[in-house]
Amino acid sequence: LGHMAFELSTKKALLGQQQSLKTQATAPTETDWHPTSWRSKPVTQDIVYPDQGALFKALSKISHLPSLVSAGEIERAREDYARGARGEAFFLHGGDCAEAFNECTEDHISAQLRILLQMSFIIFMGAKTPVVRVGRIAGQYAKPRSKLAEVVDGKEYPSFRGDSVNGMDLTDRQPDPDRLVSAYFHSSTTINYLRSLSTEQQLLDAAIKELNFDADSIDSEILRVKAHQVHSRIEDALLLYASSARNGDKASSRTLDHLSRAMGSEMLWTSHEALNLSLEEASVRSVLDPVTGATHHYDSSAHMIWTGERTRQLEGGHIEFMRGLRNPIGCKIGPTMQPDELVALLNKLDPDYQDGRVTLITRLGVDKVDRFLPPLIDAVQASGHRPLWLCDPCHGNGKTTPTGIKTRDFADIFGEIEKSISVHNAMHNPLGGLHLELTGDNVTECTGGCIPLGEDQLGSAYKTLCDPRLSAEQSLHLALLVSRRLEG
Ligand code: PEP
Ligand code: MN
Repeated sequence: LGHMAFELSTKKALLGQQQSLKTQATAPTETDWHPTSWRSKPVTQDIVYPDQGALFKALSKISHLPSLVSAGEIERAREDYARGARGEAFFLHGGDCAEAFNECTEDHISAQLRILLQMSFIIFMGAKTPVVRVGRIAGQYAKPRSKLAEVVDGKEYPSFRGDSVNGMDLTDRQPDPDRLVSAYFHSSTTINYLRSLSTEQQLLDAAIKELNFDADSIDSEILRVKAHQVHSRIEDALLLYASSARNGDKASSRTLDHLSRAMGSEMLWTSHEALNLSLEEASVRSVLDPVTGATHHYDSSAHMIWTGERTRQLEGGHIEFMRGLRNPIGCKIGPTMQPDELVALLNKLDPDYQDGRVTLITRLGVDKVDRFLPPLIDAVQASGHRPLWLCDPCHGNGKTTPTGIKTRDFADIFGEIEKSISVHNAMHNPLGGLHLELTGDNVTECTGGCIPLGEDQLGSAYKTLCDPRLSAEQSLHLALLVSRRLEG
């Protein structure tokens, strides 16, 4: 694909000073980054399309469609990430393992926003720093798989790779380029709805009115008291808010300040795994910064993107693609990551040593954190890079039940968080937040929690397309535990 078409499509520049901005078409060289330079590198978990003509048509269409997020927003997200890296904000990054086209509904999207808001309020009360929310949302439609094929009744089929690639139905496993265009429109409709929910009143309503978990049902006495405190403080805040809105009452401005600080950033930042590089390339918009004269390249499909544990090879296509972007970028870190390899990765992704340029998302497993996290932190501290460190307590703790259901246990999830907090604290390194697979819906995918869910109950509302998510109730319980732990 020629990059020219994509460059031309960016004439309508993104920074809000549209008239004064010009796009630059620079010739790529061996060492220069370019939106296409990943193509000369090995690409793991690649998606191979049988019909290249149809793929070209779909990508070209996407490259001409409007940006889903603006350069100005990405710049503001960068500032949040820098704050997080310095320990001045706590990140709550979460959502579905894989979004589904048929779950692109008002109910599901508002449930996702609501659970993240509720959790951030609870965490804020313990962490006492603003909580920045990032959704695995509005584009989380492509999955890496440990097994790229599956055998059913003696016949081999390509694995399901997410709704932007193929279908769950065995007859629909061929990658279909039209699904890329459909993913764009589903992302666009999701982000549009999120924006409509982002007014202050909506935020408060969503966060407060429906804080509908049953505090009395929590088994631990301390947590039950804490949950009641959260309820009543939130209720007080809502009453004050309502009365100040009616009377213009200045007395409640402290509460309002408190609330808006808890809410951190202006909106939910969106994110997804940048797996399908052709799609990400078609989303790149290049903008000339009128002040510095530099050309910035934005992946306009999300505020933040990350690469997974299976695609983070130092010399691979995914790292090459991400390194040239202005967006905050992330990398999943599993137990095989070596300290010197991590520093080499940071040197590549963060050559200018910018706070929060890179997010390191550790997913080591509850039994491995104590052994593997300290040497990684040590090496990064010595390197001078200041990434945002997030703990993903989900992906290192997967298990399969004797009947073949993929699950995770609540105790392992909280266990990995607790151990990670202890390690970071002991090394005077800020743990910048959490990366979680969760849903605001009442699913039965992870075991344990405040009303313990047993393996035999997993079948009743097991809905995920890929990995098991914490339910709304488990998520709130986790937020209470984390809040208490961060309080010290
Ligand atoms: C994921 O986040 O859904 C995922 C596949 O994670 P990881 O790359 O860490 O395995
Ligand atoms: Mn997952």
